[in-house]
Amino acid sequence: MHRYVDIILPLALPGTFTYRLPEWLMGQIGVGCRVVVPLGKSKYYTGIVHRLHDTPPAEGIVVKDVCEVVDSTPILLPQGLKLWEWISSYYLCHLGEVMKAALPSGLKLESETLVSLNPDAAAEAPAEEVAEKIVQQLKDGKAQRIDALAKAIGYARIDTQVRRLVEQGLLVVEEKMARSFRPRTETKVRLGKKWASQTDANEIWDALRRTPKQEKLLQAFFYLTECPLELQGIRDDEYAVLSKKRLAQHPDFSASAFDGLRRKEILEVFTAEVSRLKTPKALPQALTHALDEQQSAALEQIEASWQKHNVCLLHGVTSSGKTEVYIELIRREIAAGRQVLYLVPEIALTTQLTTRLGRVFGDKMGIYHSKFPDAERVELWQRQLTSTPFPLILGVRSSVFLPFQNLGLIIVDEEHETSYKQQDPAPRYNARDAAILLARFVGARTLLGTATPAVETYYNAHEGGKYGYVSMTKRHGDVALPEIIVEDVKELKRKKIMKSPFSPRLAEEVNQALDDGGQAILFYNRRGYSPVMECRSCGWTPHCNNCDVPLTFHQRIGKLTCHYCGATYDIPRQCPQCEETDLKDIGYGTEKIESAVQGCFPKAKTARMDLDTTRSRDAYEKIIHDFQCGQSNLLVGTQMVTKGLDFDRVRVVGILNADQALNIPDFRAHERAYQMLSQVAGRAGRRGKQGKVILQTRQANLPLIKQIVQSDYEAMYLTQVAERKAFGYPPFTRIINIYVKHRDERFCVTAASHLATMLRPHFGTNLLGPDRPSIGRIQSQHIRKMMLKVVPSLPPQGTRRTLLAAAEVLKNHPALKGVTLYFDVDPLG
Ligand code: ADP
Ligand code: ZN
Ligand code: ZN
Repeated sequence: MHRYVDIILPLALPGTFTYRLPEWLMGQIGVGCRVVVPLGKSKYYTGIVHRLHDTPPAEGIVVKDVCEVVDSTPILLPQGLKLWEWISSYYLCHLGEVMKAALPSGLKLESETLVSLNPDAAAEAPAEEVAEKIVQQLKDGKAQRIDALAKAIGYARIDTQVRRLVEQGLLVVEEKMARSFRPRTETKVRLGKKWASQTDANEIWDALRRTPKQEKLLQAFFYLTECPLELQGIRDDEYAVLSKKRLAQHPDFSASAFDGLRRKEILEVFTAEVSRLKTPKALPQALTHALDEQQSAALEQIEASWQKHNVCLLHGVTSSGKTEVYIELIRREIAAGRQVLYLVPEIALTTQLTTRLGRVFGDKMGIYHSKFPDAERVELWQRQLTSTPFPLILGVRSSVFLPFQNLGLIIVDEEHETSYKQQDPAPRYNARDAAILLARFVGARTLLGTATPAVETYYNAHEGGKYGYVSMTKRHGDVALPEIIVEDVKELKRKKIMKSPFSPRLAEEVNQALDDGGQAILFYNRRGYSPVMECRSCGWTPHCNNCDVPLTFHQRIGKLTCHYCGATYDIPRQCPQCEETDLKDIGYGTEKIESAVQGCFPKAKTARMDLDTTRSRDAYEKIIHDFQCGQSNLLVGTQMVTKGLDFDRVRVVGILNADQALNIPDFRAHERAYQMLSQVAGRAGRRGKQGKVILQTRQANLPLIKQIVQSDYEAMYLTQVAERKAFGYPPFTRIINIYVKHRDERFCVTAASHLATMLRPHFGTNLLGPDRPSIGRIQSQHIRKMMLKVVPSLPPQGTRRTLLAAAEVLKNHPALKGVTLYFDVDPLG
C-alpha cells in the first residue's frame, strides 16, 4: 500500500506535487483519480494523481495530507496521461497548464476564500476607511467571496486589509470548494405507494369514479407515459414515469386533481437526474448516400494505406465527397466495436456537419464544443467513462483530451486549418499533431482530410514517407470546379472604372446570379489590425493605448475598437497631431462592404458573417440557416465563410481583396493564401452548373494567382518547398519562438538579451533576434521575440533541456522579477 502520491495541479508551475495519503485513504485511489489537496496557506485544489509511491520526501520538506478523494475510478485514462506528458514536453509547458486546458472547469474545482465578520469580535470600529467599508459590507452576517467583496466596495484587491482585520480578530476567513458542476435534475411523477399496498389495481380505479377529474388525470398520465397495459399497476421508474412539466401541459391537468392523487398516494413526485446532452435522431440507413466510384476507390486505398502507415492523408478537391468517405469509415469502425473521434476546426463545427452526421449516427454521436456550457462538457466526459460511451465524438481541438476507452480512428477534417493550434494561453499545442500521437498511443489510425494540405503534411505524405496518401481529383457528380476569373484591380483603378469595392465584372456576375434566383458569396479578408482611419494631412491613424495596433471601426456601436484587448474608443473629431478635421476612412470592413452592397445589388437580401455577428452559436446558426433556405441570397463575410460550408445555389463567389492574404510577412503567407482562396472558391457551384469565382487582386501576375486559378496545388507546393529548403523553414527545420514580456520596456529588452546571451553559444546563427515583433505591445505588455530554427543536426531532447534551463535561470534572476517567458513550438504565426 503506497503512502505517497504525486499530484498534478491546474497551475502554471513546473512538475508535480507530493502529498501523503492518510491511512484511511490508502489503497483507495489509483493514477488518474481526482483528489483534493491543500496548497499554500489556505488554498485547496482538485488535482489528478500522477504517481503512487513510497519514497519519502527529502529531509526537512513538510508534506501535507491529501484531504479528500473525489473519484473511486480514474477520470484520466493512461493514454490521456501519456498525451498530457507528451504535450508538456514537446510544447515546453507545464503539466498543470495541460490539465487546465484538458479538463472542463467542472472537473477541477478550486477553493474560494470566503470572508465574514467574526461573530465573537469585540465591536470596535476600525479606523481605516477601507476597513470600515469592509465591515459595513459584511454587516448582514453572510460570508462573501473576497473578490466580490473588493468589487462591492470599489477596490481591485483588499487582501492586505483583510489579512490585517483577520489578525485583529475582526474577520474570519474560510476556504470552500466551489462546486461548479451539478447534475441537472427534473421533477418527475410516478405511481405512489398505494399501488404497492393495494393488490388489486381495479380497486384504485373504482374508488376514483367519484372524483372524475382525478380519474381523467390518471388516464392522461398512463397515456402520456405510453406505459404498456400489463405494466400499468406497477411502480416502475422506467415505464410509469413522466416529467411533471409534460403532465402539467395536458388539458386534463389541474393542480387540485393532481394534489388529490398525491394525497391518496396514487401518484408521487420525485427528483431525478436528467442528461443535458442533446442527441440527434438518425434517419433510416436507406436514406443515406451510397458511395460513388471515386469514393469507393478512395475508401479501399485508405484502408490499404493503413496497412503500412498509421496516418493517411486524404487529399480531395472541394466537394469531392470526403465527408461521405468519413461517414463510411466511421460506420465500419463502430460496427467493429471501436470508437471514433471526428475533429473539426473551432469555427467549422457548423450545424451543417452536425446535422449531416446526426442523420447517420443519431444517438451514437456526442458533440464536444468549447462554446457549450461547461456542465454539458462535464457530462459528456463522464459519459465517456461509463460502460455506454458515445461511439462517435464530433469535437473541436480540446476533444483530443476526452477519455476514449476503445479508440479505433481519428479523422482530422480540414487538417491544414490554423485554428487547430492553440495560441494563448499554454499549452500552445496543435490538435492535429496531438491527435496523431494519441492514435499512436492506443494503436488507432488517423485520417487527415483536406482539399489543400498543409505543406508539412503533404511533405510527410511524399518525400517524408511518413504518411499514406490518397487523392480525389473530381467533384461528386462530375460537377466542374469553378471557373476563376482574375480581375486586375490596379489596372481597373488606373482606368478609373473601379468605383466601388466591386469590379464591373463582379457586379455584373453577382447581379446575374441573383436575377436568376441563385445566390452569391462576397469574401472579404480582414486582417485584425488593418487601420480604418487616417489623417489626410499627416497620415496619423488612431492606435490602442494598451496595444501597438491601429483601431478598427465598428459601425454598429459607432466606436473604434481594438481587436487585441477589446478596448473601445470614441471616434476622434480631429487629428491629435496636426488638428486636421478631415479624417479619411480607409480600407473596407465587412460593415462598409455591406452598405456598398445595397447600392450595387438592388436584389440582394444580405447577411453578414464575421466575428462580430456570430458571437453566439445561435446567431451563427441562424445566418447559415437563413442562407440555406433562401431567406438571404448574398452572404458577405470574412474567413468564416470559407469553412466547409455546403450550399446548393451559390453561383458566384467574389473575393474582394486577395492581396491582404498575400502580403502577410510570414513564410507561410502564400501557402495560407492558396488554402484560403481555394476554400472560398470551393463554395461556388457545388451542384449542377459550374460556378464562377471573381478574384480581385492588385498582383494579377503573381505565380500564386495562376496556381489558384488552375487549382494547381502541386505547383504551389513545389514553389513553397523549394523556398523553404533554401531558407531553412519547416518541414526542413522545426521552429520554436521564444517570447519575453514585461510592462516595462527596459526590463523586457534586458531580459531578452540576457536570454539570447545564454542561448547563443548553443545555437549560433540558428537563433534569430531578439526583435521587436510587428505588434510590439499587447495589453500594456512589451514584447520581444526570438526565433530558434531547430535544424536536423540539433538533438531534440538536448535542445529542450537547454531552453528550459535558460528559462529557469531567467526566472530566478533577481534583477528580472516579473518577466514573463514562454515558448511557442511549431508556431503557425
Ligand atoms: P467535401 O467534404 O469533399 O467538400 P462533401 O462530402 O460535402 O464534399 O460532398 C459534396 C456534396 O456532394 C454534398 O452535398 C454531398 O451530399 C454530395 N455527395 C457527396 N457524395 C455523394 C454520394 N455518394 N451520393 C450522393 N451525394 C453525394
Ligand atoms: Zn494629422
Ligand atoms: Zn488594445
